[in-house]
Amino acid sequence: MAAPADSDVIAAIATGQGRAGIGIVRVSGRDLEHFATQLLGATPPARTATRATFRSGAGEPIDDGIVLFFPAPASYTGEDVLELQGHGGPVVLQLVLRRCLELGARIAEPGEFSRRAFLNDKLDLAQAEGVADLIDAATEAAARSALRSLRGEFSARVRSFAQQLIELRALVEATLDFPEEDIDPLDREDARRRLSRLEQEVARSLALGRQGSVLRSGLQVVLAGQPNVGKSSLLNRLAGEELAIVTEIPGTTRDLVRQTIQIEGVPVSIVDTAGLRDTDDAVEAIGVARAWEAIGQADAMLLVVDAREGLTPADAAIRGRLPAKLTPVTVFNKIDLSGDAPGVELQGRAWRLHVSAKTGLGIDGLRKTLLKLAGWQPEGGDIFMARERHLVALEHVATALARARQSALRTELFAEELRSAQSELDSITGEVTADELLGEIFARFCVGK
Ligand code: GDP
Repeated sequence: MAAPADSDVIAAIATGQGRAGIGIVRVSGRDLEHFATQLLGATPPARTATRATFRSGAGEPIDDGIVLFFPAPASYTGEDVLELQGHGGPVVLQLVLRRCLELGARIAEPGEFSRRAFLNDKLDLAQAEGVADLIDAATEAAARSALRSLRGEFSARVRSFAQQLIELRALVEATLDFPEEDIDPLDREDARRRLSRLEQEVARSLALGRQGSVLRSGLQVVLAGQPNVGKSSLLNRLAGEELAIVTEIPGTTRDLVRQTIQIEGVPVSIVDTAGLRDTDDAVEAIGVARAWEAIGQADAMLLVVDAREGLTPADAAIRGRLPAKLTPVTVFNKIDLSGDAPGVELQGRAWRLHVSAKTGLGIDGLRKTLLKLAGWQPEGGDIFMARERHLVALEHVATALARARQSALRTELFAEELRSAQSELDSITGEVTADELLGEIFARFCVGK
């Protein structure tokens, strides 16, 4: 079970960087009433939007805004929480934050509010991860499935598996104490039925979770091709009406050579090799270096050529520079001019497609090919945002259940496999979790969350 959280007062600017209409400083800790009185002149009423002046130590106004006070335990973190909604300018927000530090708060670490929420049993671990995934979601579909995790749908499913396991264990473990007796044949049949139902449910969740993981990580594609073959036209055509919203990681330089489109909600991140020129400009060089790093991690190479010309020696040179592990997809574009028929062919592991960005001919095949490469199989179910660690745990559960079935209900083995499946399930919701794992998960959150 979760340990009680630290109780020192933490504070952070919870809204984004830069100028905005409103900016929020969030404070969490024990006994914030005194803190509030010093900052605002009085303790605000609980859970009521209240107009207030935020004041310096000398009593000078810093900002005028709205304050929300959530006394413990009915708050996000389970502690007293104060939300100071002021004007969204970087300087005024810093002044408010600095005043909070003067009053004894310290700056919150990334994800520390959510970590406290977890430690105070306000959220389980899978839900807390849903919070971060919702904030990071690059497409609408990704946001929807992250919200499902955040609202606890995934956790409820995991808990229902755990409950079923407990019932199954009860059936067999009773007989562990009386080794000379075998399991009652009726119980045996019941256990077998329950086990097979549970196996099916876990398999289904794994399939949905794998799809969620595709929504989360998407497909990384390297785009190559000569000028004027229609690369931008193709991207626009693929992206259709919907544009993916690319989230910037704070503190990094903007990557000019990278863009993200979405296909059926799957984010497809594209690194354009046209931007990869040699450069003396230091900032641009960082972008180029980062693009090569991205290429190293990419899944596929989209090489666009003019269908009337086919592959040129320059294309072959580009291909030669790229890592051999990328799945090559050659797109013969402008078939409206060449007169080729649209189509998709697979030769070995290389895809060859004929399309027209202009007329849209063959584009559906290109979409399907990219989705296939991403591992996307529209399931028509409630996809939830699984992380790699959830999938690994569910895979272990599936393996343990299969072994339990193969044990032909030999009690000791059977019970052992069920126990191991249960501890995997517990690791998903954070019932038992190592501190390092917690550190790793929450460190990736943004500050103020
Ligand atoms: P990029 O330099 O590779 O990004 O190429 P663009 O997308 O800018 O396209 C170059 C030119 O080719 C533009 O005039 C496009 O309108 C045209 N173009 C792109 N795709 C097609 C196509 O499928 N058919 C025809 N007829 N023209 C195309």
